[in-house]
Amino acid sequence: MTPTLSVGGAALLAAVAAWQLGRVLLCAAGDQRDSQFLTISGAVAFGLAVTLGLLAVPSVDSAASSAALGASPGAAWLVLAGALVLLAGLWRDLGRGVRGQSMAALVLAALIAVTVGGVSVEQVKLPFGGFVDLGLAGQVLTVAWIVAAAVVVRLLDPLPGLTAGFGLLSAGTFFVVVVAKGHEPLARVAGISPSLSAVLLGACLGVVLAGGRTGLSLGRAGSGLLGFLLAVLTVVGTLKHTAFLLVALPVLSLAVPMLNVFYMRRQWQRAGGADPASLDRARTLGDMLGRRGFGHTRAVELLLGLQAYCCLTALALVGLVTVPVVVKLLLLAMVLPAAFVAFFLLSRIAARVAAVDAGKVRILDVPIDALTYQSAEQRMDELIRSGGAHHVFTADASGIMRAQEEPELAEIIRTCDLVTADGAGVLWAARIFDFPLPERVSGVDLVRRLSGLAARQGYRVFLLGAAPGVAEAAADVLRAENPGLDICGVRDGYFKDEAEIAEVLRAARPHILFVALGIPKQEQFIRRWYKELGLPLCLGIGGSFDVISGKLERAPEWMQRAGLEWLFRVLQEPKRWRRLAALPKFVGAIAVSTWRDWRRQTKVPRPS
Ligand code: UDP
Repeated sequence: MTPTLSVGGAALLAAVAAWQLGRVLLCAAGDQRDSQFLTISGAVAFGLAVTLGLLAVPSVDSAASSAALGASPGAAWLVLAGALVLLAGLWRDLGRGVRGQSMAALVLAALIAVTVGGVSVEQVKLPFGGFVDLGLAGQVLTVAWIVAAAVVVRLLDPLPGLTAGFGLLSAGTFFVVVVAKGHEPLARVAGISPSLSAVLLGACLGVVLAGGRTGLSLGRAGSGLLGFLLAVLTVVGTLKHTAFLLVALPVLSLAVPMLNVFYMRRQWQRAGGADPASLDRARTLGDMLGRRGFGHTRAVELLLGLQAYCCLTALALVGLVTVPVVVKLLLLAMVLPAAFVAFFLLSRIAARVAAVDAGKVRILDVPIDALTYQSAEQRMDELIRSGGAHHVFTADASGIMRAQEEPELAEIIRTCDLVTADGAGVLWAARIFDFPLPERVSGVDLVRRLSGLAARQGYRVFLLGAAPGVAEAAADVLRAENPGLDICGVRDGYFKDEAEIAEVLRAARPHILFVALGIPKQEQFIRRWYKELGLPLCLGIGGSFDVISGKLERAPEWMQRAGLEWLFRVLQEPKRWRRLAALPKFVGAIAVSTWRDWRRQTKVPRPS
């Protein structure tokens, strides 16, 4: 039988065994699918499938493998070492045994791999030429790496379906590398690599198929075994062209489990974790996604998507094996951080958590109140009843950017009584800061809702601003919409004498003053007069009268929902295009601020 057929046969055997065994165990569990039974089912199906697959390798492939492996005693040592890891893990999964036993089994298995199996990194080619013999240090390093890699995979989230899916991607990557590059003289890929990667691929595929949409968990036992075998594969199956690939390939193929451990460590530190044993109970990436409202399937898809991306990067690096190492490093530096950042941002932006409808979120030092239209109306009614003068700011991305450049405006906003989120960009940024706001509370809609409130409560309303005739037209619309509305004054926004307007306001004594002079003119006007005139509620509402009067058309519903109202306004008034520059600036400023925020959170005091 040709080696290719034997490798394919072993993989198929492992796949069918894991699939059918997994299904039988799931059926046996029936309706009482308690999580321990499910976990053990996955581990048993995976372990037996791997064992069968590996045992099939030497019997069908002895001639080919002995030639390829040289002195290596075939796959028997792998089966022995793997069984050790699996059984010790199963014992712990059943709640038996003593602490540290699965770790001891792992160390023993790694020693078997290095001594009997001859799995060791002996010599590496340096990126800029020359070889280094590692000798005994290579063996020690290999044991340490196998144990570390296996622990990292074992700590991967117990989300059903995740570990098997990860194994499928990681083993698949090695299989492709080994098949595509194994024949190259410098590759020195051990003969067992094709069989081991194919068997792992098959067994993981079988578990994924058996688990269906709900997925099967591999537990400590199965994931420990998967981690151990993948770690062995990273040593025997990597390309030894350069030290760079020797490191990059294993790290990329274990990227998600490694990221998970970094995340867990950070959570553990933040919780003031002093006891190292409590690290494996720290919050995982899966917990983080669950807290953000991701369903089980979506969380697994997102994590596997990230792993698939890292595996593709690994394959691209292998494809570029002859390219100078500097280019490969650059490629890595560009594509990897982008993926991790995208993952964490997506986990916040796409979160399905219930939006917060109280409290404040600071976006670029601008405090935004978490409000719905209903709670905004209620709070503003309370402000009017409470006596005194109050100022409300409706914040959109361009307003927030203006505040970055104008300290006076920033100070006004900071001391406003309420700040509403008036724009899709603000809602989006709040999500990035992990504080989802319930809805957009825009100036136009506030004018309409507060006019309704005023009609019901008998509050007087004053409309100040916009071109001559526009505020009058808006007043007519508001009166028609809210019968009984008392509009005690209307003035356009192109006045010369501000003091005269103040006198008009003093005489009219409005409860609610809408000011449409554009940012920052309207905010400065309000700030100069609201206390002196004792105006209970003042709002800067930009171009709202233009929209309400019908002078400008409001963006269609779908554009408002998609957060594209700003685009519609630019299309209507092309002279506003300059304002578009605020958007990329806003995105950039949010990125810098998120980075600082993250750095600040990371700098946690080390447990003493
Ligand atoms: N406006 C005004 N007086 C001025 C400048 C502007 O009444 O001296 C009006 C202008 O007619 C428009 C509104 O203020 O109705 C500004 O609308 P814009 O959409 O530009 O407001 P922003 O986006 O700055 O809130």
